[in-house]
Amino acid sequence: MKAVIFRAHGGPDKLSYEDLPMPDIGPNEVLVRVKACALNHLDIWIREGNPAYPMPMPHVSGSDVAGIVEQAGAQADHVTVGQRVFLSPGISCWTCEQCLAGRDNFCRSYSLLGAMMHGGYAEYVKVPFRNVLPIPENLSFEQAAAFPLVSVTASHMLFALAGLQPGETVLIMGAGSGVGSMAIQMAKLAGARVITTVGSDDKIPKAVILGADAVIHHGREKVAERVKLLTEGRGVDVVIEHIGPEVWDSCVASLAKGGRLVTCGATTVGDVTLNLRAVFSRQLTIKGSYMGTRAELVKAAELMGQKRLISVIDRTFPLQDARAAQELMLSRKFFGKIVLTV
Ligand SMILES: [Zn+2]
Repeated sequence: MKAVIFRAHGGPDKLSYEDLPMPDIGPNEVLVRVKACALNHLDIWIREGNPAYPMPMPHVSGSDVAGIVEQAGAQADHVTVGQRVFLSPGISCWTCEQCLAGRDNFCRSYSLLGAMMHGGYAEYVKVPFRNVLPIPENLSFEQAAAFPLVSVTASHMLFALAGLQPGETVLIMGAGSGVGSMAIQMAKLAGARVITTVGSDDKIPKAVILGADAVIHHGREKVAERVKLLTEGRGVDVVIEHIGPEVWDSCVASLAKGGRLVTCGATTVGDVTLNLRAVFSRQLTIKGSYMGTRAELVKAAELMGQKRLISVIDRTFPLQDARAAQELMLSRKFFGKIVLTV
């Protein structure tokens, strides 16, 4: 089969389109013919090399996959060959105490498709049968590949961790990111007031269409100052953050008393400063988030099928152009998801 692989960590030039042997499946696995695979910033971290993700080489990235069941192992009796499916990107054991309690993203052996195991930048991918879910009706393969990782992340951050309530105000950093474009929709659907940020004018109307009540151009305006103006000096109840040091101080300064900040990543480096006096005197909560549960993904899929949430797709590229797709992601000149088609 054809796949986009890398044999050593480094820049986008490490990606190459080559032949790999077809994966062999075991009794509890499913082989999926990939039709679409969405990019995530994780793909960039993995390609560049990150001690948190040790992996044998060559490696195939890609955590968000939709396709057609090609082969199913004997235990995979809920799937049929030829079925249109999407894949849950989180790989859990389903036997430990966390998994049995429904907290599968806390599983001790938790890993991600395309991170510690080969992912969807390929014509075929194998996964444990529990990760195979039916595509909600009417969604295209591209749409079905574009929502899993960001919807599970956004939902876990907004509701499980931040406890966002109807009527509250949320600041969502980076409307044009995958997580941002999904979090805006979910927060709006939940009855919150949504403030978001963008880095270019063309992204402002796109953020408004998704449901943002106010959009801050972070290149022209000071985010925390504008937030104060928009909230009569009060600040926001919740901040959803995934960018890192360059916005951290603005995020903390934007929080109201009792505000909750949830972070799920740092596209640059991870070091920030934090004034503890601000944390205790304003009674702030800061939480880290990593993925979400399969139950949260199933709920998001239902909302996708009902068109109450949509996949925002900026562009698609053929699989062999994965390098150009990753370069577009690095340029930040996109809004929503970038998807490879096979
Ligand atoms: Zn487990």
